[in-house]
Amino acid sequence: MNVEILCVGTEILLGDIVNTNAAYLSKELALCGFNCYYQTVVGDNPQRLKEVLALSLSRSDMVIMTGGLGPTYDDLTKETVAEFFGREMELHEPSLKSMTCFFHKVGRPMTDNNKKQAYMPKGAVVFPNEAGTAPGLAVEGQLEGSEKIAIMLPGPPREMTSMFQSQVLPYLQKKAKTTLVSHTVHMFGIGESAMEERLRETMVNNTNPTAAPYAKEGEVLVRVTASGANFEEANRLAQPMIEEICGVFPEYVYGVDVQTLQNALVQRLMEKKLTVATAESCTGGWVSKRITEVSGSSQVFGCGICAYENAIKEKVLGVSAQALADHGAVSQETALEMARGVRALAGADIGLSTTGVAGPEGGTEEKPVGLVYIAVSCDKLETVVELRLSRGYKQEREIIRNLASSNVLHLGWKAAGLY
Ligand code: ATP
Repeated sequence: MNVEILCVGTEILLGDIVNTNAAYLSKELALCGFNCYYQTVVGDNPQRLKEVLALSLSRSDMVIMTGGLGPTYDDLTKETVAEFFGREMELHEPSLKSMTCFFHKVGRPMTDNNKKQAYMPKGAVVFPNEAGTAPGLAVEGQLEGSEKIAIMLPGPPREMTSMFQSQVLPYLQKKAKTTLVSHTVHMFGIGESAMEERLRETMVNNTNPTAAPYAKEGEVLVRVTASGANFEEANRLAQPMIEEICGVFPEYVYGVDVQTLQNALVQRLMEKKLTVATAESCTGGWVSKRITEVSGSSQVFGCGICAYENAIKEKVLGVSAQALADHGAVSQETALEMARGVRALAGADIGLSTTGVAGPEGGTEEKPVGLVYIAVSCDKLETVVELRLSRGYKQEREIIRNLASSNVLHLGWKAAGLY
């Protein structure tokens, strides 16, 4: 099936926003085995929208549109598609009901133009919006003797991606008459190119299942997708490849279908009935923020101390004046004493710490920007790891802090695995 992407929004044409929706949809469609030969962007103008819609549906079976489903006068995607397929607009009661509930829940009055979002072209398949108010929809119809489909999704990426995953993918699978199953193998500590080198044969030689790599903020993900007549068949096809990948990279794989490193850490701590506490300098609380993002983390997280000043490192964490004087705040000795100190303070099973030079100022020849020490202290392991995280970019403070936090979360995950 040929599918094309049509993003609606004058903001995209003006360069005010980057068209991340198109990038996301292209990747997803490729993984599902749909051909996507064209992407188009058009402004909020019904005449031009109608023209590109006609062109898209003259050469493709399906068009997936994003944007222009909102309540304002310039949100005209649905109306334009309805006119194109010769459909009237009618009130979709379930959408009106869920919108009324939404506004009631958030304590805001629902204005008349909000109700516009509950009007749909007659016969449309409606996709409820779990992350916002504007529902998505699909209009199916015959155009010059062929079956054509226009899918319309909200513009905000958070709403669009969650709707795509939960409702549009199953809809597409039904249309393609196959079931797709995807699993994602999560790795940390290996670069994308090193991973690709070892998996190239697997990735190039297989068409079902397929393996697609993604690099994501220091992590590498490989998505394995298989298609079959039903879930069981597709899942069975996917498993050997997942096992192969996990077997090739046992030291890097931290989970299959886990959301994030912090999820993997919290899950493992829960399984092993362990607790963790964090002492942070250069990451400024980022590690504890990431751990506490995970629902249920209160069962495993003792405390997070953000100890910037040396005096606080001494007073609160018990770091020795000697270590600070002899080796400095950014040192193996201080990192280890911070991890030990916070573990003792919280009475936790595992103490984690970070200390480093996040830059852009403050680097020296001996201790350059990007030098970070992370440490873990627990009964089974006590160690410090030196990281060199600078890549020489100008604006890399946040990158360094994020990578440092990922590294220490991974170290905690490894330590918890020893129990
Ligand atoms: P809303 O109900 O918020 O008005 P909508 O479906 O009408 O949703 P738009 O008004 O077109 O969508 O866009 C809303 C916001 O979504 C934009 O301001 C922009 O931040 C984001 N957005 C829209 N289209 C894209 C896109 N193609 N890529 C990335 N972000 C987008």
